[in-house]
Amino acid sequence: MNNHHPYNFETGVYRPPSEGGSDSLLVRFTRNCPWNHCTFCGMYKNEKFELRTLEDIKEDIDAMARLVHDLKELSSKTGKNGEISREAAIILMRRVPELEYHHGFTMLYQWLLSGGKTAFLQDANSPIMKAEPLMAALKYLRETFPTINRVTSYARSKTLAQKSPETLENIRKAGLDRLHLGLESGDEAVLKMIKKGATPESHMEGGKKAMEAGFQVSEYWMPGVGGKANWENHARNTARVLNEINPHYIRSRPFRSWPGTPLGQAVREKTFIPLSPGEQLQELKLTMETLEVSSKVCFDHAGNYWKNRRGGYLFSHGYEGYQFPEEKQRVLALIEEGLDAQGR
Ligand code: SF4
Repeated sequence: MNNHHPYNFETGVYRPPSEGGSDSLLVRFTRNCPWNHCTFCGMYKNEKFELRTLEDIKEDIDAMARLVHDLKELSSKTGKNGEISREAAIILMRRVPELEYHHGFTMLYQWLLSGGKTAFLQDANSPIMKAEPLMAALKYLRETFPTINRVTSYARSKTLAQKSPETLENIRKAGLDRLHLGLESGDEAVLKMIKKGATPESHMEGGKKAMEAGFQVSEYWMPGVGGKANWENHARNTARVLNEINPHYIRSRPFRSWPGTPLGQAVREKTFIPLSPGEQLQELKLTMETLEVSSKVCFDHAGNYWKNRRGGYLFSHGYEGYQFPEEKQRVLALIEEGLDAQGR
């Protein structure tokens, strides 16, 4: 796409799967990750973090609005009562061949097809923006697309901890509803080892502040990231931090060793010994036993691969997960089943 194109806007690579499958409008408020040190993460490793100006973000939103407008107009002309049609998309692609290479075109088309309800702010930590441009961009997004009923972003707990409660509340009121936070662990030594740039205290502070400001909060933790050396502390202290925050959602993203990451290298060099599947379940058992929350605990990712007796997935991969405390015993029973299926 050249920059003079009427539909030119940026789309980043990542968004959480729980953002309505592929149906969220992806709006890039910042580029890449401002921290970029986590030793397990390869997401933005060769990319530099950049803030975007309010003007740039608004231009992107305007370009999306033009694309929506033209798709709708063409759809009504092709006799579909203004409903978004494939025909309209095909006509537009013939008219503007660059759309074929436009990363955001399919995304925007899918979003419209599914009713245009949710948006996700890219990339890894957009709440790091100064409050005024962030709020102005949120308001502009909401005004431009009034069908949107939920806006979500990734955020670092440290970034939230550094903002005042009033600022956080104002950001929420400007139109940001839901935050996805990468907790990974609540154990101080593990957090240091993975270079999360957070302490148990800053995690608690950021998470609690987000809850108090009225956001819907999802905390992601990483079973197994303590390895053999630290699994017990990792389980207990992660559960303790989560107990303090008591977020709406707790989501499991088990550790996987990725090539090209420092922790992947440590696995190869055997300075980090990962847990076996059975040991991971033992860790999970301790984490679940220690959890005293009223959150939904979710295993909504293929990385939660453990099998049940019949060879299917042990846990539901649904985005709504298991309601604690009511379903805590059920989750613990499933873990026992998983351990049996492993042969313990
Ligand atoms: S904060 Fe998130 S995106 Fe950034 S390095 Fe850590 S895990 Fe990766």
